[in-house]
Amino acid sequence: MALPGTSSGLHIVHIAAEMAPVAKVGGLADVIAGLGKALQKKGNLVEIILPKYDCMQHNQINNLKVLDVVVQSYFEGNMFANKIWTGTVEGLPVYFIEPQHPGKFFWRAQYYGEHDDFKRFSYFSRVALELLYQSGKKVDIIHCHDWQTAFVAPLYWDVYANLGFNSARICFTCHNFEYQGTAPAQDLAYCGLDVEHLDRADRMRDNSHGRINVVKGAIVYSNIVTTVSPTYAQEVRSEGGRGLQDTLKIHSKKFVGILNGIDTDTWNPSTDRFLKVQYSANDLYGKSANKAALRKQLKMSSANASQPLVGCITRLVPQKGVHLIRHAIYKTAELGGQFILLCSSPVPNIQREFEGIADQFQNNNNIRLLLKYDDALSHMIFAASDMFIVPSMFEPCGLTQICHQSLQHCWHLQTRIDNAALICFVNFIVFDFDDETIPMELRNGFTFLKADEQGFDSALERAFNYYHRKPEVWKQLVQKDMKIDFSWDTSASQYEDIYQRAAARARAAT
Ligand code: ADP
Repeated sequence: MALPGTSSGLHIVHIAAEMAPVAKVGGLADVIAGLGKALQKKGNLVEIILPKYDCMQHNQINNLKVLDVVVQSYFEGNMFANKIWTGTVEGLPVYFIEPQHPGKFFWRAQYYGEHDDFKRFSYFSRVALELLYQSGKKVDIIHCHDWQTAFVAPLYWDVYANLGFNSARICFTCHNFEYQGTAPAQDLAYCGLDVEHLDRADRMRDNSHGRINVVKGAIVYSNIVTTVSPTYAQEVRSEGGRGLQDTLKIHSKKFVGILNGIDTDTWNPSTDRFLKVQYSANDLYGKSANKAALRKQLKMSSANASQPLVGCITRLVPQKGVHLIRHAIYKTAELGGQFILLCSSPVPNIQREFEGIADQFQNNNNIRLLLKYDDALSHMIFAASDMFIVPSMFEPCGLTQICHQSLQHCWHLQTRIDNAALICFVNFIVFDFDDETIPMELRNGFTFLKADEQGFDSALERAFNYYHRKPEVWKQLVQKDMKIDFSWDTSASQYEDIYQRAAARARAAT
């Protein structure tokens, strides 16, 4: 293993809008922490730059302190001061940027969903680069993620490289092509980008309308472009690219899909501090103890230990199959199971609708809808559930599946732990238990091909049947799922490899 600072260890800086567990909205946060830790373990020097959100989990940061420097950064024709804080999250060094700008960009009591998100994150991207530039650090790879920090790629090559800060190479990961960051072209000028130079079809102009598109800019300007699974990389080369397929084709040589892993320190049922009782694939007693504990905590019926518990943890947005999640609540009740949904929605009418459903089931001791974000509870639900549903319309990677599988048995829907069976709308991680065309050892869940209620029902009914009628088969399924390796190890090596090649080309160019 190479040590940081030695000839083969790389200096890698992730610039991102989220990081678990300190500032988490979804899978992006898990990736920053999980990939960062895996790269660090391999002997690289890894640092993270995040906004200093007022609403982040400050208690998850060790040694948080403000640095004795103020970084001045350009925005809308003026220079603004920024306080820089440092701390350690999950063993990784993190810089938190606190703008001294009257817009109070990160004092909004939420991470996203503000009217000026484009401004907020273009501001952040600029300061992050300014910080690296002023620090004189000799960074090998700057890795930016999603549209919020996609600005880094054109800023680096069009602004900072001209100042002599050009030894690093830029990697951009798009975690979901649904979100591309578009705005009127002139808004690019806020952070100092040259609108005339960039508002062109081969640079940052959106492929279907007159606005500029920041994810497109990052694809054009980065040295490496990745997405979160090889299958999704294929999908986005056609329809799934949401208008960026041609851009991806033009830049295909630098584009690759690398499957996300999960942080197996965080998502490990044998060490998970959020669980009532730790357990493993070889000792599943703890799983039923967690189920009993969660039922008690949520004041659910515990009359029948073998009444199946169906879990669902998600951001409630159309991509996640909101109509099927709603349907699953009623279908589970009809089949005599229990259902726990942990979710929150950035879409006000979806949030209101589910609040209404939660009210409707208030006095039903088999159904709980918890409309909030709660990390600790999510671990408990993954561990306690017998089955886990992920009826997403598409899933670039789907960390939920992986978590759930590694925790339980299930099939994979996401990335976590548990031993529940996964019920999933076609997913490359989950293979149907009854599909005889698939080798038995790969069959790990229940899938359905048509995203409608009938399709979902047939998968859920089959799962209930196995659960009730073939408990030994069910147990083997759980144990098999729990043993699948979803750690970051292999994927982090793939990242390391592409970083190394880009860094070698950079060295050869100087
Ligand atoms: P996405 O990134 O599209 O939201 P993923 O399935 O890749 O979807 O990742 C979602 C992550 O966020 C998972 O780790 C999941 O457990 C977590 N999560 C989603 N909603 C909640 C919630 N309400 N409370 C706690 N964790 C949540």
